[in-house]
Amino acid sequence: MFNLHKGPKFIHLDLTAACNLKCIHCRATSKPDPNELKIDEIIKFLDFCKKEFPNWEAILIGGGEPLIREKDLFNVMDHIHSLGIKCYLNTNGTLINNRNIAKIKKFVEITQISLDGATPETHDYIRGKKGAFNKAIEGIDLLLRNKARVYVRMTLSMINYLEAFDLIDLALKKGVEAVSYYRTLPVGRAKKYNIYIDKRIYHLILKELMRQKYILKGKLDIVSSDPLKVVMDGRLKMEILKKYDISESIGGCLPGITEIFINNIGNVYPCTMMPILLGNIRKNNLKEIWNNSQFLLKIRDRKNLKGSCEKCFLQRVCGGCRAAAFGEYGDYFAEDPYCPNSFMKKTHRYKISKHKKSKFITFPCQSCY
Ligand code: SF4
Ligand code: SF4
Repeated sequence: MFNLHKGPKFIHLDLTAACNLKCIHCRATSKPDPNELKIDEIIKFLDFCKKEFPNWEAILIGGGEPLIREKDLFNVMDHIHSLGIKCYLNTNGTLINNRNIAKIKKFVEITQISLDGATPETHDYIRGKKGAFNKAIEGIDLLLRNKARVYVRMTLSMINYLEAFDLIDLALKKGVEAVSYYRTLPVGRAKKYNIYIDKRIYHLILKELMRQKYILKGKLDIVSSDPLKVVMDGRLKMEILKKYDISESIGGCLPGITEIFINNIGNVYPCTMMPILLGNIRKNNLKEIWNNSQFLLKIRDRKNLKGSCEKCFLQRVCGGCRAAAFGEYGDYFAEDPYCPNSFMKKTHRYKISKHKKSKFITFPCQSCY
C-alpha cells in the first residue's frame, strides 16, 4: 500500500516561464520572470525533498522552455543526479545542440519533446514560430544519435487531431521510444482560443491509440497520462481489476497522491493544470502542505467526486481529469466531461444499470466496448 505520509513520488518543477516559442495551448506566459527561483533556492528545496520524502523517486523539469536557463538547468540536474533521483526533461527540442547534448544524455532519464503536429505546417502554427518543427526534429535526431531515450508528446486539439496517427508513423521512422498523448486543457492561452478537441473525436482517437499500443508493442510505446486511458483500454482495465485492490486510489489523476507541482516562482499547485494555489516553497513547508492542505486531503479521497465519477467502479484507477472538470463546470470534483460516461449519458446509446444492490454504476457504456 502506498504511504501518503512519505510524500510524493513525482515532483514536477518548472524552471522558468520563459520560452522561445509561444504555443497557442500553453499554460506558460513565455516571458521571463525576475522572481524565478534562484539556483541556491532550488538546491535547498531538492535537499529538503530528499530528506523529508522517502517515497520520492523522480522529478520532471519543465517550463516554459527549461533550456532557456541552460546553466541553472544543468546545475540542478547535476544535483538531482547526486541525490540518486531520476530526472525527466520536458522541452520543445529546439535548443538541444552539440554543446549541451552530452549533459542531457548524462543527467536525463527520458527527454520528452513536444510535437504538436506530424508536419511543419501544423506544428509551427500551434507553436507560433516558423522552423520550430525542423529544429525539434534536429533535437530528436541528435538525442537519438547519442543513444538518449526520447518520447514525443502531442497535445491533441481541433487543429492537429487529424495528424495523431501520422505522428506514430513519424515516431517509428525516427526510432523514438514512445509517443505520448494528452488533450488540450482549459488553462493558460488555451482558454483564449477555442481549440479544445471535440469529446467524441477524442474518445475515438484515444480508443484507437490504446488499440495501436498492443499492435505496436515491441516497436513503439504509445502512452498517455490521461486517466481516461483505462476506460478506453479494455485489457488494461481487466489487468488492473484482477491485480490490485481498488479500494484505494492507485491510478489516474494523482495530484496529492503521488504527485505535486512547483512552478518557476515556487508556488505549489496540485498539478500543472490545476491553478489552485496551495502555498509557496519560499514561505511554506512542502511537507506540511502535503500532509495538511485541505484541498489535497479532499482530492485524495475519491468519494468526494460527483456526477458520473461518483459511483463509477473505475473511480480509484481513473478519477477523471480534475482540471478538465474544473474547466467545464468550475468544480474540481465534478465529472470529467471527456469521459463517455459523462458525455454519452444523455444519449440513447448509453445505458446505466439500475441494479439496486450495486453501489457502482455497472459498465459497460455501450459505445466503449
Ligand atoms: S466516470 Fe469518472 S472515474 Fe469513471 S471512468 Fe469516467 S472519468 Fe473515470
Ligand atoms: S488534473 Fe488532469 S492534468 Fe492534472 S494530474 Fe489530474 S489528470 Fe493530470
